[in-house]
Parts: sequence; structure tokens; C-alpha cells
Amino acid sequence: MPTVVTTIEALREQLAAARALGQRVGFVPTMGALHAGHASLVEAARRENDCVVASIFVNPTQFGPSEDFSRYPRTLEADLALCEAAGATLVWTPTVDVMYPPGDQTIVEVEQLARLLEGRHRPTHFRGVTTVVMKLLLAVIPDVAYFGQKDFQQQLLIRTMVRDLFLPVRIETCATVREVDGLALSSRNRYLSGVERESARSLSQALFFVRDRIAAGERQLEPLVNEVLARLWATPLVTPDYFTIVSANTLEPVTAPGPDMVALVAARVGSTRLIDNCLLVPPENSPTARS
Ligand code: AMP
Repeated sequence: MPTVVTTIEALREQLAAARALGQRVGFVPTMGALHAGHASLVEAARRENDCVVASIFVNPTQFGPSEDFSRYPRTLEADLALCEAAGATLVWTPTVDVMYPPGDQTIVEVEQLARLLEGRHRPTHFRGVTTVVMKLLLAVIPDVAYFGQKDFQQQLLIRTMVRDLFLPVRIETCATVREVDGLALSSRNRYLSGVERESARSLSQALFFVRDRIAAGERQLEPLVNEVLARLWATPLVTPDYFTIVSANTLEPVTAPGPDMVALVAARVGSTRLIDNCLLVPPENSPTARS
């Protein structure tokens, strides 16, 4: 079993011992309820580092007042087993008091990027994310921290924050792990009933449809987006918040195909809100076109 620590002092003691041995430190922050997507991040960290720290902390400040903080799944025993199997050496499970001690009043905010897309629907979400991730990164100060492409806007905000604040940590973004039918793994998938699970396929299906059409040379983005939005609205139990094609660097809408585009979707399936995304490559930008 990996060593489990709770306090910042115990964490730092373990890290100091690893550093004294000249070990390279990789870090995977999570909210627990771990699945194969999280495992892929720990495995990537294992491949590239000697000491692999995973944190498990359900961060209250990134949930809105009507969101699922209190019922978010907490599965510590299974999480520790997954961490061990994936190669974590240290698991940090801070309490709310450790992360936000009495008197805590500092926040970290990325301005513009946090207001777009998810920020429109969850206005305080990213302030909570960037604040907690900054605290986690400063507690560990890893060589590399690993995040999932599944949360595309989140990894872009974190990259921006790390760059802007001169944090000496490399950020790695790992590919989204999916079920065989395409549904992106998410801790929230366990909220879905059988029929909702069926309908949830429509999100990745919409993304892959757009990806394939653009790879085949489609240049009219607006009708394409309208077509998939209509399909999503027509899917039982699905209520889309958005489906959009934007620049992967700025998240600003794009009107014509080019390099570095991403399609992003957010929808409620029943009462569960899911997000997913897919990078888009027009034929003129595909590796085969260039070689
Ligand atoms: P969470 O526990 O949901 O906060 O996620 C912790 C990390 O795991 C984040 O960097 C997520 O982007 C990443 N992650 C979540 N789901 C997946 C997935 N299906 N594939 C790859 N990474 C994921």
C-alpha cells in the first residue's frame, strides 16, 4: 500500500525524504471516486518519476450551492487500492481544515478564461479549482503535475495560472479514457440510471461525428454545430448546456476550420451534468497531409 498522509507537515516530511534520495516527483490531484481515467494519470506519472503523489480531496469551494458536494461519491478504500495498483508511492488525503485552515482568505483567479463556457454555467467553479490546485501544487512542488484532457478548460486554466505565476512545475495533459461505447469515464457516471447511461452516449457520439466530418473536409462549422445540437436536444433525458467549436488555445469561437480547434460539450443527462471534448483536425492539418 502507498504511504497515506493527511497533514502538510507529514506530506513535506515524506517529500523531503524522496528529494534527499534525488527522486523526481510526479503529482496527480484528484477528488477521489477513482476510475481508470485517474489510473492513467498515475501510470503516466509512474513512468516518468520515481516518487508519485496522488491527492484525494473533494474540494468544497469548486461546487456551487445547488451542486452535488455533499453527495459526491467518497470511496477511500477502493481509491487507495487503485492508487497502489497504478503505482502511487504517496497518497495525500487532506481534510477541509488542512486545505482551508481557520482565517484562510486568499484566492487565486484566472480572469478571462474562467468566464467562458463552464464559467458561464458554474460562475464560482474555476475560482475554487485554481485556488485549490495552486495550494496543492505549492504543498507538493512536484516536477510534473498530471491532468486529464477530459476537463479541457480546467487544464488550460491551470497551464495559464502556472505560467502567469512563474510556478516551476511542468503540466502534462493526458488523453481522455473512455468506455467502449465512447462515454468519457467520470466519477459522476455512477449517478446515471440504466436509461440515462444509454442516453449519455450521445455526448461522445456528437463529438466524434463532428471530428469525423471535419477530418473529411467539412468547412461549414455553424450548420454542423446546429445539426449535432438538434440531435442532442432530440435525445431522451438529454438537456444540452452547450456544444461549441473553439480555439484550443483561447477558447474563443472559431468560424472556419484551422489548426488547434476543440469541440466541447456540456449537458445534463437526467439530473447529472456531464462534460466532454474532442480535438479537431481538418484534413490540411492532419499529419498525413503534411508529410
Ligand atoms: P477529478 O477527480 O474529477 O477532479 O479528476 C482528477 C483528474 O483526473 C483531472 O485532471 C481530470 O481531468 C482527470 N480525469 C477525469 N476523468 C478522466 C478521464 N476519463 N480520462 C482521463 N483523465 C480524467
